Amino acid sequence: MLRLNGIETRYGKIVALRNMSLEVREGEIVALLGMNGAGKSTTLKTISGLLRPKAGTIEFMGQPVDQLSPEEIVRRGIIHVPEGRKIFPGLTVKENLILGATSRKISMTQVKQELQEILDIFPELIPLLDQLGWSLSGGQQQMCAIGRGLMAKPKLLMLDEPSLGLAPLIVQNMFHTIQKINRNGTTVLLVEQNARQSLAIAHRGYVAEAGKIVASDEASNLLNGIHHAYLGAA
Ligand code: ATP
Repeated sequence: MLRLNGIETRYGKIVALRNMSLEVREGEIVALLGMNGAGKSTTLKTISGLLRPKAGTIEFMGQPVDQLSPEEIVRRGIIHVPEGRKIFPGLTVKENLILGATSRKISMTQVKQELQEILDIFPELIPLLDQLGWSLSGGQQQMCAIGRGLMAKPKLLMLDEPSLGLAPLIVQNMFHTIQKINRNGTTVLLVEQNARQSLAIAHRGYVAEAGKIVASDEASNLLNGIHHAYLGAA
């Protein structure tokens, strides 16, 4: 479904990705793991068109997408939920969710129906629908951010550190929900520092270090500690 081949991405003179190659197959959850600064967020930003690679290719559904605008990449079905749960603080939860559907030409009736589907996945948001974004807890904001991403009906959902800063019980709930979203038919590329919990729900995993992949395997093999030197104590 998605294939990165030899991607190089820079911030000015700083080379953040060097020869980054990975693949996500339809139906999978793929975990992209690695320490701070390994290049995980840069990989997602390059896929979603926010950064333009200096070298290499990105293919999605058999088509090159590395020269497309971020808007066109969204229209092709790739949705990026960035780190730090970027929801609109001055809008209500309902407004934030509905904004997720603006890239698609659908009727208000359909929006309402799809909103209901999102609330089936995140029932915790139902009592919060009229509350403003800023007033939500970290976990609630993360649910709202992912829910907004789902309103775009992505083929591929890319999540950047969804567990960051959440309490352990909420983290566990978040990973279960990601698994549920995947079982409902959405392919997921999951960037995480939380190696154990993401590998527990992923099909396959990649480990990035200094802008390239240094290990990749079935999630269960990675989890069994074959590459524990790269995963550290996470
Ligand atoms: P983190 O979990 O800390 O976000 P990461 O694996 O996602 O880590 P990236 O954020 O992709 O790593 O960073 C990869 C490299 O690019 C690092 O060396 C980082 O310092 C550098 N970098 C990231 N963003 C910028 C920027 N806006 N300007 C300059 N250098 C940057």
